[in-house]
Amino acid sequence: MSPAEVEAFFATLRAANPHPQTELNFSSVFELLAAVLLSAQATDVSVNKATRTLFAIAPTPQRMLALGIEGVEVHIRTIGLYRTKAKHLLETCRLLIERHGGNVPRSRDALEALPGVGRKTANVVLNVAFGEPTMAVDTHIFRLGNRTGLAPGKTPLDVERQLLRRVPPAYRVDAHHWLILHGRYVCQARKPRCGECRVTSVCDHAKALASGHNLAP
Ligand code: SF4
Repeated sequence: MSPAEVEAFFATLRAANPHPQTELNFSSVFELLAAVLLSAQATDVSVNKATRTLFAIAPTPQRMLALGIEGVEVHIRTIGLYRTKAKHLLETCRLLIERHGGNVPRSRDALEALPGVGRKTANVVLNVAFGEPTMAVDTHIFRLGNRTGLAPGKTPLDVERQLLRRVPPAYRVDAHHWLILHGRYVCQARKPRCGECRVTSVCDHAKALASGHNLAP
């Protein structure tokens, strides 16, 4: 995808959805961090269902810690890997209180030092809570980066670096939301819905199909 096509790609997605948002529910930076931590290998819908009751009684690290392991597990057991996630969440709460006065730090290193918080989670928090132009590469963005030619790479980190290089500054803060939503609802894993897609004219996959190449999805 050429730089002009990258510009057109994001201009089109922005025109359709000027203010893209995460689909996780939260009402504080702490709740955002907790929701993202719980969302690994789980859908946003399932996480929102669990956090609706959890955040109602434990909206702060202190109150979450006071629930204890069983108190947390009872709310999140419909989510995959819930035992490990409960453990990580409570340990994260303990460290937030010990090291950061109960606040979520605005630092990649400090975030990634928390249990259960990897590069992707840190990128989401830095972007959504603090407005930093980070790219949280999940399965959708990894697929889209490669399939469309926007940011080809063998690993999520490769794709993240390509995006940081190639996405024009005006689109960087919102880029990962547009890509996730496009991957979730249009450019789906098994069968991309190219017939309903707004960016067909600049997508490498669509161009290759139009020229008669047989491509893997
Ligand atoms: S044209 Fe098809 S492959 Fe390309 S971004 Fe749209 S849905 Fe995905």
